[in-house]
Amino acid sequence: MSARILIVDDTPLNVKLLSAKLAHDYYTISTAANGVEALKKAGEEKPDIILLDVMMPEMDGFETCQRLKADPATAYIPVVIITALSDVADRVRGLAAGADDFLGKPINDLALMARIRSLLRMKILMDEWRLREATALQLSPVSADILADPLDVHDSRILIVNDDKADSIFLCEALTPLAAYIAQVKSVVEAETALAVGAYDLVFSNLNLRDEDGLTICARLRTNPVTRHVPILMLANHEDVDRVAKGLDLGANDYLLRPFDTNELFARTRTQLRHKRYYDRLRNGLERDLMLALVDPLTGAFNRRYLDAHMPRFLQHAAQGKKSLSVQMIDIDFFKKVNDTYGHPAGDAVLKEVARRISNGVRPSDFFVRMGGEEFAVVMPETGLTNAATVAERVRQSIADAPIPLPDNAGSLQVTISIGVAETTPEVEGDPNKVFDRADAALFRAKETGRNKVLSDVSGS
Ligand code: GH3
Ligand code: MG
Ligand code: MG
Repeated sequence: MSARILIVDDTPLNVKLLSAKLAHDYYTISTAANGVEALKKAGEEKPDIILLDVMMPEMDGFETCQRLKADPATAYIPVVIITALSDVADRVRGLAAGADDFLGKPINDLALMARIRSLLRMKILMDEWRLREATALQLSPVSADILADPLDVHDSRILIVNDDKADSIFLCEALTPLAAYIAQVKSVVEAETALAVGAYDLVFSNLNLRDEDGLTICARLRTNPVTRHVPILMLANHEDVDRVAKGLDLGANDYLLRPFDTNELFARTRTQLRHKRYYDRLRNGLERDLMLALVDPLTGAFNRRYLDAHMPRFLQHAAQGKKSLSVQMIDIDFFKKVNDTYGHPAGDAVLKEVARRISNGVRPSDFFVRMGGEEFAVVMPETGLTNAATVAERVRQSIADAPIPLPDNAGSLQVTISIGVAETTPEVEGDPNKVFDRADAALFRAKETGRNKVLSDVSGS
């Protein structure tokens, strides 16, 4: 993994030592001697990770971190705060400032590499996700409020493989605010069973199990396709560093040493959960998430949410170009009877076929929406009332002209629809609901006066 790392420290010797350690591993190093310079370089160079000393004159590491995290251009760059080894207060402040992880001084090589690798793994997924998110937002401006924040990991599930009571109590207590569900097992076999039946977002593996080797977990999880991507955090003692290194080689993501520090535990757990969250997001496909949120699964028509988000833009466009925009409100006649007589699946089949015929009958540039139940709408940009009514009549005929086949060879059914059509006023009303209200009123009259017909709005627009 190659990456660009920004080292921020006011002591030249520290910078030199860190640079030397990291340059070995194909990392590209850039340095800053104070907070101000760090902010400037972070913005310009967009490093993949920032290693930030806490003790600096003028702007200290906390303030620098806070500013990095407050600026959308740099907020997503992982920051590792470098603190004196035992300074708990500094870690608390670091977390509050938005730091992603900590390193204690003097800096231990294994810890340095593990933290950088773990944060880099997350950053790579995050960058990819941000790229796709940007594309998706272009495709559909509604997506921003639909997509849950991937950084919010509170609904995560954690599995702890541990046979030590004191550890377990501490972990459970410390992790409760971070995760929705925490399960504990005492052996490798139990862990495998738990993972086979339930999906977990993070596994804690104790390298000091009484009767077996905790490293086995790392190896087993990584060779099983189902669990290959579940992050693993190892728990170990100071004298286990060789085995920790082995675990990292086997594919564990990070480690914590006893006595555990709550803040480190919190930061590392959060990083791993975020990593998993981004991974899941990417695997499941952001575009598909979006489609699911915007499209009605039964008919493939856009849903109400999509319409609500886009209608103001349609109206604005029409107003600017002094063009007409028309809408059709479409409702299936006596649909309740279809369900009541032939059952819900037959009703669904009718809905699907009606939707297919409507969408075939309108232009690709028209927007076809399922408003709910058996009610549809078509938004027709650059279309006046007369043309819209002509299209609506054609749509009505496409339904009335041919019966709809029912599922399970249960014959076919004659179905009709009623349509109300309305046009925006020349100056175009600002309220998107108005044109729909008028189309709705026309639809109501069509129903009242016999159904299976198209009526246009006559309110004098
Ligand atoms: P009208 O001619 O006045 O429109 O009468 P109607 O029976 O079509 O209208 P009503 O609004 O009384 O009934 C609509 C029915 O549509 C009731 C509801 O059970 C059914 N429905 C709504 N959504 C679905 C769906 O997704 N699938 C199925 N099968 N039925 C649905
Ligand atoms: Mg109806
Ligand atoms: Mg109805």
